[in-house]
Amino acid sequence: MSKSHTISLIQGDGIGPEVTNATRQIIEATGVKINWEICEAGAQVFKKGLATGVPKETIDSITRNKIALKGPLETPVGHGEKSANVTLRKMFETYGNIRPIREFPGVATPFSGRNVDFVIVRENVEDLYAGIEHMQTPSVAQCLKLISRPGCEKIIRLAFEFAHSEGRKLVHCATKANIMKATEGMMKRTFEEIAKEYPEIEAQHIIVDNCAHQLVKMPEIFDVIVTTNMNGDILSDLGSALIGGLGFAPGANIGDNFAIFEAVHGSAPKYAGQNKINPTAVLLSGVMMLRHIGEFEAADLIEQALVVTLGIDKTYTRDVIGDAGSVSTTTFTKAIIDNFGRTHPEWKHREYKPIDMPKIKDNQKAIEIKSRSVGGIDLFIETHNDLEEMGKRLTDLASATNMKLKLISNRGVKVYPNDHGTKPDLTDCFRCRFIATDSNREVTDDDIMQLVSLVKKDYRWMHIEKLNIFDGVAAYSKAHGED
Ligand code: NAP
Repeated sequence: MSKSHTISLIQGDGIGPEVTNATRQIIEATGVKINWEICEAGAQVFKKGLATGVPKETIDSITRNKIALKGPLETPVGHGEKSANVTLRKMFETYGNIRPIREFPGVATPFSGRNVDFVIVRENVEDLYAGIEHMQTPSVAQCLKLISRPGCEKIIRLAFEFAHSEGRKLVHCATKANIMKATEGMMKRTFEEIAKEYPEIEAQHIIVDNCAHQLVKMPEIFDVIVTTNMNGDILSDLGSALIGGLGFAPGANIGDNFAIFEAVHGSAPKYAGQNKINPTAVLLSGVMMLRHIGEFEAADLIEQALVVTLGIDKTYTRDVIGDAGSVSTTTFTKAIIDNFGRTHPEWKHREYKPIDMPKIKDNQKAIEIKSRSVGGIDLFIETHNDLEEMGKRLTDLASATNMKLKLISNRGVKVYPNDHGTKPDLTDCFRCRFIATDSNREVTDDDIMQLVSLVKKDYRWMHIEKLNIFDGVAAYSKAHGED
């Protein structure tokens, strides 16, 4: 007799209610006792005027229950409020997004028979999804890509621990460390360091664009892929297409104290209310949830019945075979329940052990350094003035301070002094790099204030970045063309 569980259920927007109802019905049919607490979030909450899209009652419910099953939530695209999905992930520090991609018998794709079976472990709360954006000028937008050492350490350890829990033997780390050496590079460096603690698991770094290429060319070589937030978001949609589409890709957002289970897909508004979408992705998210709460038998029962429905009975929703011959969401749901107890001979059962969640000690959270200094600043200026004139003027202004103008760049490329002779397009947002006149003397806050107070008389400035030097190493990137 299984114990009773209380779980927060967010039905979601668009196709959300259809896929979560199907999942709830199938889970209940297993006999597992769940008391669902129905919670609101997303579009309906935005409409009521709550900008976060997540009301207090929903936060309280998840705080109490620790576990939620969530349908997709709509986010206005390109305008409006922030994503309630991301808000939930961040509020509950569910830093690991586990997205399995496994081929299903009977679901024909160009990759059928290749044994596609890998899992993306996506960092879920940092990176560009911190959502810290500012218009620098009316025509130039900026988004901060924040990657922290503890964030990298947690997700990388989680990837290796996850590999252990499923008996997987290879972890790839996919980054763009060749271009973003500080941010994506931190993920790569942390991976290479931590991989040494897991000698029984093979560890390989791969550049993320090649990872996308290899995923289509040779998807069977992958086992676990750990990656930063945006890379993981894109690669997991790609992965879903290898096995039949977003209707088949489940996910779990997990952290130290909370877990929120949801499909990779969104609210697919054009199919809302039509009873024709595939509930498999949310159902399999529910299966991950059942394993998380220790209901392994029910999870296996559902998984086998699903695979029999697809692979033996050839019962499909519209996304698999088109309109002709496909069944509705509700018929598909009933077919799975009717197949409880049947098994598919080719569906290899995995050993699923609970994940040993990594523990990061407080004293591991900050990197200790022996020395630090400031070697200058990048001052961001908005101007439409002539570049040569600006270069001369800033050089003049700085001559009264302890700093000198080293260069001006626009969208990252050095444009002043223009010693390479090329003419990149210019926006009205310039990065002006000032460095200490005397390299043996540290730049102080007073030096910076003095320089800014001189520059502000002639130019509109947006922000300053200090050019930190940690343990004698420049902790900032060069401009393209800077020597
Ligand atoms: P989407 O909702 O994932 O839908 C994209 C396409 O994927 C659909 O048009 C459909 O493809 C297919 N699809 C998705 N779910 C399916 C299912 N269960 N069964 C069969 N096919 C399915 O992506 P979107 O249209 O880009 O985004 C819509 C909204 O969802 C946006 O507001 C977005 O912000 C939000 N979103 C939410 C989440 C989340 O809640 N975690 C995730 C992603 C997006 P075809 O057109 O080929 O039939």
